Amino acid sequence: MRNIGITTTVPVEVLLAAGYRVVDLNNVFISSAVYAEDIERAERDGFPRSSCAWIKGMYGACLRYGINEIVGVLEGDCSNTEALLEVLKRKGIKTYDFSYPSNHTVENVTAEINKFMDIFGVTAEQVEGVRKNLQQLRQYAREIDELTYIADKANGFENHLYQVSLSDFNGETEQYLKLLKNKITEISQRAPKSHSIRLGYIGVPPMTCDLYDFVEAFDARVVYNEVQREFAFPRSIAAETIYHQYYDYTYPYNLKFRLEEIRQQSKVRKLDGIIHYTQAFCYRAIEDIVIKQELDLPVLTIEGDKSNRLDSRTKLRLEAFLDMLWDLKGGV
Ligand code: SF4
Repeated sequence: MRNIGITTTVPVEVLLAAGYRVVDLNNVFISSAVYAEDIERAERDGFPRSSCAWIKGMYGACLRYGINEIVGVLEGDCSNTEALLEVLKRKGIKTYDFSYPSNHTVENVTAEINKFMDIFGVTAEQVEGVRKNLQQLRQYAREIDELTYIADKANGFENHLYQVSLSDFNGETEQYLKLLKNKITEISQRAPKSHSIRLGYIGVPPMTCDLYDFVEAFDARVVYNEVQREFAFPRSIAAETIYHQYYDYTYPYNLKFRLEEIRQQSKVRKLDGIIHYTQAFCYRAIEDIVIKQELDLPVLTIEGDKSNRLDSRTKLRLEAFLDMLWDLKGGV
């Protein structure tokens, strides 16, 4: 089976129907013990210091992992992807692109997915067949999410990990299905552990995954991981077709659409506050201005760069934020 790298969530059903093993380069980068070397390699090869660590990491991970084909999202994700694809092309890597249309209509999403299917020579029937086979996996990811915000059994990191990995199913759908099933059994048997402060995490997935354990030490838990949950497509079961599924995916479209889902989930999950993670040198940090104006909940914005650990300043800010939320709740 041939590997194909992706730079973010794309209609993975198309790639699986075409017989590929899908590898999310973000996951290959951040889960590696040598993640810092991926960044260093990119900088040695000329990536500016003032470019985002995820882009540099994906570049390094792509070369380290020996990926020969890659799909990048040119519209709706990252403004740096086009340049990344150009550089990788010069290294002999075959590149394909996909776009989430900025004019967000079902017709436009349909046209983009049809184009994508044509590139890989697969039919809508084949893709729907794969989509159907993935439903159990998506259902399991929903159960892990519910074990977090309803049952108080899964922790914030587990919620993050087992949803974010649905971008590529760790490269093996059958094995990932088994892994999720076993995890659900294990987590379900735990005693519930409720926390006084319920947090939402929004923005790109963090470089600094220790933030989940950090907040739990202060009687707080992340019970909503916005983008990771979107990667898992929790509403796909109700989507009529693949076109509707990718239309109803909030992250790559306009901020207004994204905020509607964040507001709704904030109510359903009874959130006390939100952590907005931004990545140094990422254009999405500017969205913070609108997010803070539009959400009724207290929002703390934190920024990560190259390290996969929280720095002491961010820890202090998180602690002060949790203190403030505790006070707002009346300290009871
Ligand atoms: S964090 Fe921002 S700049 Fe970096 S890859 Fe993601 S969208 Fe692009």
